[in-house]
Amino acid sequence: MKDAYYKKTLKCPVCLFEFSSTRIKTKAVKIKSKDEDFCNHYEDYNPLYYEIFICPNCGYGASNNSFDSIDEREKFILAEAFKGREVERDFGGIRNHIDALDSFKIALFTANLKKARYSIIAGLSLKTAWLYRFEKDENEKAFLEMALKYYKEAYDTENFNDEGIGELTVIYLIGELCRRMGKYEDAINWFNRVINHPEKNKNKRIEKLAREQWRKSRDAAKG
Ligand SMILES: [Zn+2]
Repeated sequence: MKDAYYKKTLKCPVCLFEFSSTRIKTKAVKIKSKDEDFCNHYEDYNPLYYEIFICPNCGYGASNNSFDSIDEREKFILAEAFKGREVERDFGGIRNHIDALDSFKIALFTANLKKARYSIIAGLSLKTAWLYRFEKDENEKAFLEMALKYYKEAYDTENFNDEGIGELTVIYLIGELCRRMGKYEDAINWFNRVINHPEKNKNKRIEKLAREQWRKSRDAAKG
């Protein structure tokens, strides 16, 4: 498709440097299939490749929807950590698989530095796993494992409200990640928590998915 891309102008919230990052136009994005852990497979253009914005001056990197949401304390921590750092790489153009992977690793590094919420780190880990999945790369497993660990931490310690990922979705995802890691008994327990959750009626789609994946896990557990 001609003109599938456009440039978004940004200002780094840490060092105030102005730069631009490539984005894919919504009309160029075509979903081919969806996996049960919410990974979308695309025809032609993959918007996940461009989800992370990275400042070419200081190296701050974050997801497009959280790029500007950092407070003064976090800015200070990051500015100190990035001091004297030579970035020497510009992620602003067309990205290949390696660029996309590296952009997520930089976002993970940044999120860890500023001690982001577990659910944020979990989401970045999960998407990194998907990037490996697109290439049928075994490294996917390590990042699924990381996502599972952080979603469990998030479930234990964070409050889920209406904005962002809801609690039911987190419980479901933990189950699905357990299933993908071959931990079928754990998966069944987490899917049961969705199926028996007092607020399951608020998200029929998740409840339905949980029942389907519960069945798959039970069949797999029987071997
Ligand atoms: Zn910067």
